[in-house]
Parts: sequence; C-alpha cells; structure tokens
Amino acid sequence: MSEILFLEPVFKDVIWGGNALRTRFDYAIPSETTGECWAVSGHKNGDCKIRGGQYDGWTLGQLWQEHRELFGGQAGDQFPLLVKIIDARDDLSIQVHPDDVYAGAHENGSLGKTECWYILDCEPGATIIVGHNASSSEELKKMIEEDRWKELLRERPIHKGDFFQIEPGTVHAIKGGTLILETQQSSDVTYRLYDYGRLQNGKPRQLHLSQSMDVIVCPAKEAATERSVEETESYRLEKLVECKYYAVEHLVLHGSMKRPKQPLYEILDVLDGKGTINGTEIQKGDHFLLLHGYGEYELCGELELMLSRP
Ligand code: ZN
Repeated sequence: MSEILFLEPVFKDVIWGGNALRTRFDYAIPSETTGECWAVSGHKNGDCKIRGGQYDGWTLGQLWQEHRELFGGQAGDQFPLLVKIIDARDDLSIQVHPDDVYAGAHENGSLGKTECWYILDCEPGATIIVGHNASSSEELKKMIEEDRWKELLRERPIHKGDFFQIEPGTVHAIKGGTLILETQQSSDVTYRLYDYGRLQNGKPRQLHLSQSMDVIVCPAKEAATERSVEETESYRLEKLVECKYYAVEHLVLHGSMKRPKQPLYEILDVLDGKGTINGTEIQKGDHFLLLHGYGEYELCGELELMLSRP
C-alpha cells in the first residue's frame, strides 16, 4: 500500500472555544467558538472522512473495520488513536479520565484515555493544571467539598513547545489562551470535577464527582516530561513520549530527510510550512496516515510536523 491517506477534520463547537483554527490553520470552522479539530479520528463521535485516492469518501472508522490489513492487522474494535488541535480561548473544566479497566466496566466497553499535549502556542502568562495537592482520597474529598480549588490544584506556567503526558487518573485542565496538539487514546470519556460555576444555555454543565473520586490517583504523580533531541543541519527531531499506546515526535525540517518504515502505520500532522512527501505536496493543516507497508520515505521543504504511531 503506497497510498497516502489524507483526512478531513471534524470540528466541535464548545463554550470555551475560539477562532484560532481559522486564523492560524485556515480551516472552515462552523462557529466563532470552535474549540476542537478532530484531525485524525475513527471515533463514532467524529469519524474523519478520507479525501482523495482509492478510499475517497470512506471514513477512517469504516476503513479500520473493513480493511484491517491496511493497519498491519492491529487488534481492537476501534481505531486506537485520536489527534486533535485544541483552541482554548477560555478555560476548560477541571477533569479526569479513567483507564481502560474502569472505562471498559463503567462506560459501555469504551477505552480509557491517556493523552498528551504539545503546546503549539499560548498567550503570555498562560497556565495549565496538571495534578493536585491532596495526600489521600479523604483529603481530596474534603478539599472538594470545601471548595478549596486554588489550594488543591497544581497550576503551572506554560510556554510554546512545552509537552505534557497526562496519565489516566490525573486531574487536569487546559486554560484559556492556549493552542494545543493533543494525541490521545480514541476515547470521549471525561469526568468533570469542577466547571468554575459556569453556565451553558443558562444551566451548569453536568459534573461527575463520584466517578472522578473513583479514578483520581492519590497522591498525584509528577507529569513525565522527559524528551530527547536529534539535531542535524537540516532538521530537529524531538522524541516527546513513548508509552503503551503511542509514540509522538515533533519535527522541524529545513531541506530534506529520509524517514524509516514503521512496523504498523504512522500519522503525520503538518503544523506549519509546506513541502513534499515522496513528491506529493503537503502543507500546513494537512493530516494524513501512511498505511501499513508504506516503506521508507523522504520529506522535503520547510516543514513543522507532528509524527505519531501506535
Ligand atoms: Zn483531558
């Protein structure tokens, strides 16, 4: 299979969204509060359409169901990864995700959610929340009941290029003024712990306190941020994370480079610039898969890319 599988993003209107997906990536977003671009997804809540080629008009989820050989025969009843670009004009709710075991038992066999964030851009002074300061579940419960959010939550400053791996059970929130590329397990299960008392259509959004208490890890672990860099005259490749579910790398290229064949398949997201992959033109805002057996390839141009694989 030597085809490149280009995908059409799916957009989500949310109360905390903005318009950076248009101003920055030129996407035709549906509203001025578009918070999420599901760039690579086979999830039922936003299954990306394939653009061009032999499977034009199919969805990624369909292709996964009917042509598993194109994904190297990987097991599982759904395409396992989901890549999003998130434009948080306003703060996202304080939330936590379950692991596979809890989600499987309590959420209709859904996958859990391990996710990671690469900060594409942020306003000066922007922060995020990762982790909490309670030493035990009892203390966590007490602090929540007493509304001691400032004391409870670990808020830290962020900068462009920062990276965070968010394990299930980690309390977290993306805060306003932040543009993020998120790579995650294909899951839409979020337990909302606190929403700053905000209203949507006149009502507060639903909270999930008991599920949150079930899954929050106490005490919190430090978020892993180890990364390694490979640098030459023409490129800078940063290995951001390798975990049970995915490996993610960030690449800045000026010129050309060869890339190795992957054992299963690979996802590429063009964050900036333009160039070619084995002669096919690619540009900012493109998201595509190199299917099983694609082989070695050559990237050329002035490009910033995110590369991920199972
Ligand atoms: Zn999350």
